[in-house]
Amino acid sequence: MKIGFIGLGNMGAPMAHNLLKAGHTVNVFDLNAEALKALAEAGAKTAASPKAAVTDVECVITMLPAAAHVRSVLTADDGVLAGIAKGVTIIDSSTIDPASVKAFAELAARNGNAFVDAPVSGGTGGAAAGTLTFMVGGSASAYEQVKPVLSAMGKNIVHCGDTGTGQVAKICNNLVLGITMAGVAEAMSLGAALGIDPKVLGGIINTSTGRCWSSDTYNPFPGVIETAPSTRGYTGGFGTDLMLKDLGLATDAARLARQPVYLGALAQQLYQAMSVKGAGRLDFSAVIKLYRTEES
Ligand code: NAD
Repeated sequence: MKIGFIGLGNMGAPMAHNLLKAGHTVNVFDLNAEALKALAEAGAKTAASPKAAVTDVECVITMLPAAAHVRSVLTADDGVLAGIAKGVTIIDSSTIDPASVKAFAELAARNGNAFVDAPVSGGTGGAAAGTLTFMVGGSASAYEQVKPVLSAMGKNIVHCGDTGTGQVAKICNNLVLGITMAGVAEAMSLGAALGIDPKVLGGIINTSTGRCWSSDTYNPFPGVIETAPSTRGYTGGFGTDLMLKDLGLATDAARLARQPVYLGALAQQLYQAMSVKGAGRLDFSAVIKLYRTEES
């Protein structure tokens, strides 16, 4: 297929690479010239604007930081909607709020295009390996249409329901993750303060009812899980600022839905406290630093 791809950051660049590897023709655009150059070297065709990247393509994918960037890439004079042919589907894989998705889908529909939300989980490792999970919101026919393209970048392509439900799935999962990580950080810190070996405590939790991904794969206490970011100084992994962004999306969506998110709002403040301390780029499991004075 001929695909227009906009947003070649930590996630978008490896995703576009995988489309090329799968034999697709990929037109790329990003504001960052270096990112464009790297994709050109891998065989992509670079464009001077989103409009130029989507002229004459069969599918468009955007992978941008937040809703404001998606809006500008779609609606600018040299944006996607100005260049795309009628009938071509737009897939947005950025993590944004479900209400914006609905607004963008309406704009796209007025232009004669389907707009599908397909946020991802799996992080930069999954993007590079082509093993992302895509949570797809849109009609059944739009899902069937985008599935083969997404399969070149991911392993699990899940139809979540109507437009916006992909983002609902994504932000609800990350709401759980933000809360469980803070919970495990609290329990591991308390255990260590009360004198138990953190490895022993981690082992007990991981074979007991407290077990979760935050305890058995990403344990925030250094040394408990050798492959976790906590054991390499909280580098790599999923940044605190990205978790803060996702919890903000969850609390905003909850406000619109008039639905309480007691623990999510508290967790949001914990990651915000980390961010204002200058730890926004550390892996989000560094939230344990709020509980521990000594650093390892
Ligand atoms: P990033 O900041 O690394 O990349 C974003 C890219 O978009 C950059 O290259 C930037 O130059 C480009 N960009 C911004 N505005 C633009 C515009 N107007 N026109 C063209 N290009 C523009 O972000 P990322 O880590 O690749 O994340 C992208 C999205 O995926 C975010 O919504 C993020 O929440 C989500 N996500 C990230 C991860 C992760 O682990 N990094 C995991 C899951 C989901």
